[in-house]
Amino acid sequence: MNLPFIEPYKIKMTEPVNISTLENRKSWIREVHYNLFSLRSSQVTIDLLTDSGTGAMSDSQWSAMMLGDESYAGASSYYNLKNAIRDITGFEYFLPTHQGRAAENVLFSVLIKEGDVIPGNSHFDTTKGHIEFRKATAIDCTVNEAFDTTIAAPFKGNVDTGKLEKTILEHGREKIPFILVTITNNTAGGQPVSLANMKEVRQLADKHGIAVFFDSARFAENAYFIRTREAGQQNKTIREIVAEMFACADGMTMSSKKDAIVNMGGFIAMRSGELYSRASVFNIMFEGYVTYGGMSGRDMNALARGLYEGTEFEYLEARVRQVHLLGSLLKEAGVPVQEPFGGHAVFIDALKFMPHIPREQFPAQTLAVEVYIEGGIRGVEIGAIMADRDPVTRENRFPALELVRLAIPRRVYSDNHMRYVAAAIINVFNRRDTIEKGLRIKTEAPIMRHFTAELERL
Ligand SMILES: *Cc1c(COP(=O)(O)O)cnc(C)c1O
Repeated sequence: MNLPFIEPYKIKMTEPVNISTLENRKSWIREVHYNLFSLRSSQVTIDLLTDSGTGAMSDSQWSAMMLGDESYAGASSYYNLKNAIRDITGFEYFLPTHQGRAAENVLFSVLIKEGDVIPGNSHFDTTKGHIEFRKATAIDCTVNEAFDTTIAAPFKGNVDTGKLEKTILEHGREKIPFILVTITNNTAGGQPVSLANMKEVRQLADKHGIAVFFDSARFAENAYFIRTREAGQQNKTIREIVAEMFACADGMTMSSKKDAIVNMGGFIAMRSGELYSRASVFNIMFEGYVTYGGMSGRDMNALARGLYEGTEFEYLEARVRQVHLLGSLLKEAGVPVQEPFGGHAVFIDALKFMPHIPREQFPAQTLAVEVYIEGGIRGVEIGAIMADRDPVTRENRFPALELVRLAIPRRVYSDNHMRYVAAAIINVFNRRDTIEKGLRIKTEAPIMRHFTAELERL
């Protein structure tokens, strides 16, 4: 008999899960105006709001924290992290920041000016926010198959190089400070970008003399998919693939709260010493001195170890398998989910789940609210509320997809928790026709409204 797959870790410490009643949840969600970000974590049973900063650190990472060097300048923790980043990504220079968006803020302060155009594959929401805040435009050049949740293509995160070249020719290279490739493509469903696609983007960028940066929050999950799905990659280690990936870029921004399995932290890494010097000025202004940026020494130590743990094949396999377990349970029950399943999350297609709710009534948010009420499960809308208003016309933007994302924290929940989540969602699916109306926005912020908007039932 073949032995079954097991997680390559065991549990040393536990944390209670919050149990509530249906009545509790109905009143709590009303009190927070149907915005799941406003719930207290104690009101949530299984929290799949995000996989960002919610992972469980290893005993090795916790012990590294005790060795943190809190010197203001030149701390050993800084050099530990510098060595880990160079070892894994190949980038010589790096700046620590307090999280991924801070890395964007610092890097974009150097590179983006008003009127610029940043092409890429479905820019992440904070990334788009930082681009639009500088009166520049993010242009989505993701392959079309990303927008059909039923096509099972292996690399739906890819950049459509035809769209990319068209954008370059239309706007001119002087308007394009860099191309940004997000790995994995979070907004399009945690879908990976192939190594071949990264190489094509690099070639096109070289042809036009444009830099390439990677938004790398889930670079290790991306490498796992390259290894398991891309022709000719099966005999490489994850770290060999990661090195080849980053060889296609001039630099990267990183939210360490994802694939580096820490609760807080980020960095910018790059090949150019000149860019490093220019970015250092902004890093000192916004984050902190160049050898700690937004991070304490202990956190840099834990991050250095997390980069190694997060790029181990066995860990990545356990992670991706768990995401796929949840996806498969939903799919078997007929729930419309994006396929193939992503690396960090399962995405429910709300337009197919509740075709009777018009887009103006935010079907994905409506579904996320129902899933919370059913089982205390917190997912997140990736749809029209998150897509926000057009910065010029102020009209609602309706993206190609209305998704509810169920993001799975790393090394936190058991497969049994996933079975509970699936059961609750299947219950909502079976009563979907009784959900007659969606939601309406009462109040919203001028930018990134999804975090704070207040809604009401129609
Ligand atoms: C999370 C994330 C960011 C922003 O990072 P924070 O650490 O949340 O500030 C940027 N890009 C992508 C793709 C992300 O997933």
